[in-house]
Amino acid sequence: MLKKEQLISVLEIIEDGIIIISSNFDVQHANKKAIEYFGKRIIGKPIYSFIRSNKLIEVISEDSNINTTFQYNGNLNKQSLELTYLQTKGQPGAIVIKDRSKEEAFENIRRDLVANVSHELRSPLTAISGFIETLKSDKIDRKKELRFLQIMEEESNRMTRLLADLLSLSKLEINMHSQPNDKINLIDQVNVAKDALDLRANDLGKKILIEQSDLETYIIKGEADEIIEVFHNLIDNAIKYSNKNSDIYIKICKEMELNQNKIKISVINEGKGISEEHLPRLTERFYRVDMARSRSIGGTGLGLAIVKHILIRHNAQMTIASEVDGKTTFSVSFPVNKV
Ligand code: ADP
Repeated sequence: MLKKEQLISVLEIIEDGIIIISSNFDVQHANKKAIEYFGKRIIGKPIYSFIRSNKLIEVISEDSNINTTFQYNGNLNKQSLELTYLQTKGQPGAIVIKDRSKEEAFENIRRDLVANVSHELRSPLTAISGFIETLKSDKIDRKKELRFLQIMEEESNRMTRLLADLLSLSKLEINMHSQPNDKINLIDQVNVAKDALDLRANDLGKKILIEQSDLETYIIKGEADEIIEVFHNLIDNAIKYSNKNSDIYIKICKEMELNQNKIKISVINEGKGISEEHLPRLTERFYRVDMARSRSIGGTGLGLAIVKHILIRHNAQMTIASEVDGKTTFSVSFPVNKV
């Protein structure tokens, strides 16, 4: 026969919260986890006095075998709990408690993402289908027709970009927990990103200028394509959000932080800037300071979220500093080994 102490020590190592109830519904025993959820005061108290749920009242009044699960929002820290009430006819019962807060938070993120993506896709689709209707009419002149086709092309490009960015993010999430292992030359990747954007900047009367405080080569453990994507997104933003005919600077310098050599690369532009309250939210998916401006220049609202994910994978940090109507600086620093 199992002794009471043995039973109690088994209950302590179970990861779920367990509450044992007497035949008049008072708490006889609660394991450590259950006490974390409801506090020590529950011992000896009737369960319905601290688990305030109609479902619980409904089941405890039944004199039969019961195994029923229901959701309950915990009093402490507002956890989302899943409670299973167990009872054999005529015997004291037990409640098993599982914390579902993480799953719930994950579910909320998923739901928000689906809602945001549907919203982002809806507006180009509405524009495209509206113009198709107009183009079907034979009264439309050639000039207008070309203009409408051009808008349709821009909107379909926007959808392509959005899907490419979503795909990038989802790939990054899959690889989130694996560290990249290739040895790559960091400055080379910055140059690849710069070279790809030089022409676009020049077309807008802007120059991209690189300044490196030394001539050393910096090697990091990383994935070249991802590092290029980081600088492509940061330089692209600097082009998009800077004043007409202004230059973009990329400054590269060495830093020492907690005995670790770091290389800091800053992308700097002059423009409207970002006021302080927006700074902590810029790397959230679809967050834009000025939705209309971002959309009109072809932004998806995902660039900085992608940057954040890549930097986490590379053990790198980003800081953002900005003055309204002044300088905006996005700096990233990577741990490096000199060669
Ligand atoms: P988007 O596709 O809208 O550019 P991002 O995730 O790349 O999305 O950036 C999020 C928002 O951060 C942008 O919509 C813009 O409001 C702001 N932002 C990013 N870079 C800059 C910059 N260099 N100057 C001013 N605002 C910027």
